[in-house]
Amino acid sequence: MQTVLKEKTFKNYINNEWVESTSYEVIRSISPMNKEEIVGYVQKSSREDLEKGVQAAYKAKKSWRKMGQAKRGELLFRAADILEENLEDIAETMTREMGKTLPEAKGETARGVAILRYYAGEGMRSDGDVIPSSDQAALLFTRRTPVGVVGVITPWNFPVAIPIWKIAPALVYGNTVVFKPATEAAVTAAKVIECFAEAGFPEGVINFITGSGAVIGQGIIDHPLLNAITFTGSESVGEVVARSASARGIKYQLEMGGKNPVIVTKDADLHAAVDAVINGAFRSTGQKCTATSRVIVESPIFDEFRDKLVEATRRIKVGNGLEEGIWMGPCASESQLNTVRNYIEIGKSEGAKLLIGGELLEAKKYEKGFYITPAIFENVKSNMRIAQEEIFGPVIVLIKSEDLEEAIEIANYTKYGLSASIFTTKISSLLEFIDEIDAGLVRINAESAGVELQAPFGGMKASSVGSREQGEAAKEFYTSIKTIFIKG
Ligand code: NAD
Repeated sequence: MQTVLKEKTFKNYINNEWVESTSYEVIRSISPMNKEEIVGYVQKSSREDLEKGVQAAYKAKKSWRKMGQAKRGELLFRAADILEENLEDIAETMTREMGKTLPEAKGETARGVAILRYYAGEGMRSDGDVIPSSDQAALLFTRRTPVGVVGVITPWNFPVAIPIWKIAPALVYGNTVVFKPATEAAVTAAKVIECFAEAGFPEGVINFITGSGAVIGQGIIDHPLLNAITFTGSESVGEVVARSASARGIKYQLEMGGKNPVIVTKDADLHAAVDAVINGAFRSTGQKCTATSRVIVESPIFDEFRDKLVEATRRIKVGNGLEEGIWMGPCASESQLNTVRNYIEIGKSEGAKLLIGGELLEAKKYEKGFYITPAIFENVKSNMRIAQEEIFGPVIVLIKSEDLEEAIEIANYTKYGLSASIFTTKISSLLEFIDEIDAGLVRINAESAGVELQAPFGGMKASSVGSREQGEAAKEFYTSIKTIFIKG
């Protein structure tokens, strides 16, 4: 496996070879901790490069399907072992490239290993059902069959886990893959692909092409040889994916934004609620689709909760995620930092009160990074932009509610529906919440951002389109069902 060299260019991986782009252009991947540090270079690939990748995946699909699920699973086990061997290096690259703290980056890489093992195990599980036929002399059964060539387009915020939770099920269920990572975290993604390369998959099964969304991303979604597109990213790009895929009648799956609420009722364990809000909102610098961004608190405990939350936020240590003791890293890019700063100003101009945060770090050693302190607003109305739009940064809004019914109404007053959480000790309250909340991930006395790899993942409303990812649910997207009738 290659080690990180500062000036290294990571090539495309097509047909089991690392190949140069016909464009001969490269893109710098810089560190958000110091914009003068170059983590590596990736290629600004051309449509010609993409064409080679798609052709390779297309050519490989028959033999890969015929290899059988169990054998494909064995290759995933091997990839998992190699990823595990390289965990430290990949996690460090992730921290350097997109800024999340090293313990978080290690946790994400370990999750990637676990996801690979989970889907490797799928290789030995059933791929169909036997159904009683009305004809006693017949055998009626279903069999899952791969969809073909799958286009994988991913964002920068989980550069290891998201590609793996798409690529691993795609492969084990017999599809070949054309993968385009987000440029901001493409070096980390390239290192994940190096693990797949070392595992010894047959030629053309996995193809990795870096480049811009407009050229490579758009090229993937419009390509006639692709049979399915799995996309995680912003709503605006998701819409483009949906339009192109539905026009061609192919499968697509979109995981997009969130404006995830946490409700704190007057009977809640406030200590646990503060802890969960801090973690859910500010870990990964708030750059998780499941991050907590609205906290709806019942009025009798509002002031006490607010004061405890502000106190805990004041203790958060922001800085270089490679250093020990740092709790929150920088925003992943300058444009992310600017978005956060812009929303801080929007919040103030809308009349909300900034209680804490939203400041750039002053120390000299931080001046070249994209650091900002975690921010909390109060006096927020539900229809303000800061309470409606996804900020994707360390900013939360506090909203007061009179009772649970109003709290749930506020929580649902958004176009999104990814994750939602409640802190309460009353069974009737949590049951009402489970029933009434519009969210794909419903969390009780737990932070909004927790995800278990063996369970379905996805949202409602504008957060997701298509079948769920992860766990067994992923099978729905990556396979089609054949219903087979055999007359004896
Ligand atoms: P983005 O939409 O800008 O980019 C996502 C990917 O799409 C990148 O690889 C990008 O290059 C590519 N792309 C851009 N233009 C394209 C085009 N025209 N055609 C095809 N592909 C194109 O998103 P981002 O800034 O990388 O990520 C942040 C967003 O991702 C947030 O909205 C966040 O909520 C969302 N997200 C959602 C989930 C989830 O599971 N729901 C998880 C993580 C992130």
